[in-house]
Amino acid sequence: MAKQPVEYLVVAPHPDDAELGMGGTIVNLLAAGKRLAVLDLTSGEPTPFGTPAKRRLETAAASAALGLTLRLNLGLPNRTLEVTLAARVKVAEVYRTLRPRVLFIPYWRDAHPDHLAASRLATEARFHAKLTKTRMKGEPHYAERVIYYYCTHLRTHDDVAFVVDVSEEFPTKVRAMECYKSQFFEHRGDGAGAVLRYVADANRFWGQQINRSYGEPFAVQETLGLATPKCIV
Ligand SMILES: [Zn+2]
Repeated sequence: MAKQPVEYLVVAPHPDDAELGMGGTIVNLLAAGKRLAVLDLTSGEPTPFGTPAKRRLETAAASAALGLTLRLNLGLPNRTLEVTLAARVKVAEVYRTLRPRVLFIPYWRDAHPDHLAASRLATEARFHAKLTKTRMKGEPHYAERVIYYYCTHLRTHDDVAFVVDVSEEFPTKVRAMECYKSQFFEHRGDGAGAVLRYVADANRFWGQQINRSYGEPFAVQETLGLATPKCIV
């Protein structure tokens, strides 16, 4: 694992969730020269039409589309992801190694049990990572900020705190999402691309809420500050 710290770490239940939920924001931060990594907790497999090898290739292509150079997979069990102490330690060790200032974590309500577990695991690992006198790898670290993004299987966006304008980045986000052919296109018949259309509709809706073309919504549990009101759109 790369030892160089990152400023932002996006934790995702499955490969593709980071892209769906906040691909535009990832592109925006990378284009600004920020150090950002994605931590996928599981391989995402099995799925009806995917294979581990195919999924790895799709993930690599999507990362390249985003301009992402650091992406890790923790190898936790897909479909049966659970909030265990052992899993929390694994995530915390990544935090202690990469030392992100800001964590992006899946929104805390979801229909998918893996997503619920990922949200809790990633949140609990934030605290666990700062513990001293443990056998965990790395030095204690506490991420300053936690921001929740929506990669949810619930067709609702509760608790939205702010929206990032991703109008410029949206075409790149689409290219990244399109890399997951086994998930969104193959053997889908009329349903091919339906998930991407839903994401586009949602991003258009949230963009409209801030009078922009496309937006990605985020939630917080702690109050978030602005370095300057100049960045308000
Ligand atoms: Zn997922």
